[in-house]
Amino acid sequence: MNKGVNLYVVVPCYNEEAVLHETSKRMLELFGKMKSEELINEKSRIVFVDDGSKDKTWTIIDELTKEHKEIAGIKLARNAGHQNALLGGLMTVKDDCDCAISIDADLQDDINVIPDMIKKFKDGYDVVYGVRNKRETDTFFKRTTAVGFYRIMEMMGVNIVFNHADYRLMSRRALEGLSQFPERNLFLRGMVPLVGYRSDCVYYDRNERFAGESKYPLKKMISFAFDGITSFSISPIRVISAFGAIVCVIAVIMAIYALVQKIMGHTDAGWASLMMSIWFIGGVQLLSVGLIGEYIGKLYKEVKRRPRYIIEAYVNEQEAGKDV
Ligand code: UDP
Ligand code: MG
Repeated sequence: MNKGVNLYVVVPCYNEEAVLHETSKRMLELFGKMKSEELINEKSRIVFVDDGSKDKTWTIIDELTKEHKEIAGIKLARNAGHQNALLGGLMTVKDDCDCAISIDADLQDDINVIPDMIKKFKDGYDVVYGVRNKRETDTFFKRTTAVGFYRIMEMMGVNIVFNHADYRLMSRRALEGLSQFPERNLFLRGMVPLVGYRSDCVYYDRNERFAGESKYPLKKMISFAFDGITSFSISPIRVISAFGAIVCVIAVIMAIYALVQKIMGHTDAGWASLMMSIWFIGGVQLLSVGLIGEYIGKLYKEVKRRPRYIIEAYVNEQEAGKDV
């Protein structure tokens, strides 16, 4: 038995019949190389998670598991979505591995940095993020929307790694930490930094999808981005409160202005009182909505039941040196 780590690579697949053969071939080649270098051991696996595909994805995975002992398969009972499929895969394998790497089935993320990830893991890092160097292979639209998205998330105080998608290595204990997050709306790239532990990045160039089509059409992308924001930040609620406060200030200015106009006799009957009420009521309403929002924000944090802390080490040497 070699001294390599026990690595599991988790690959979510939704209607990926066009890429599976090539993907497994490339992964198996890499596994062979890493085994000969004693980076990974014989028990390491490539796990394809079929996310309720409608095509022959599962049939192919099933065949692959029979042909190669390095390949394993998990089949979800329905299409649960990329994030759920990924978490499902990671949670299923977490007790069997030393560390797990998640990667998309289309291998747009460069698998040649996997050895670097493992080396970092051996150096004591619990989480290794795969980060894209440049986005030249993405369309202009995808590139700008993605960069805009990371900026907005940053502005809202969400801790995510810039230009990192779901290509990452996690140690077994980091996976154990992740398993303590019981939330339903998954946004893994926001959750993993919350787990903690020592982390580092490896950099790579993103390729184009070599076959098949993107399973993330615009609609899914927008809802994913929206999920990311609303699952991690209550800043949008604060924006309403701030806006309410601004309208209240305007209401005071308008009240003074309307009164002056009325005293100077420049107004029709009823104008001044109408102006004052409209601004005042508007401001009070917005502020109230913001206030209610603050309570909803608190509820939202409670309901998530995220772990408040994860203990990395407990050193207790009280008895050291004593004869007990
Ligand atoms: N995927 C999935 N379930 C879904 C949609 C996508 O498991 O409902 C998988 C898909 O098979 C792929 C990964 O998620 O392995 C990323 O999808 P894709 O490459 O189409 O997204 P893009 O790279 O275009 O953002
Ligand atoms: Mg892709």
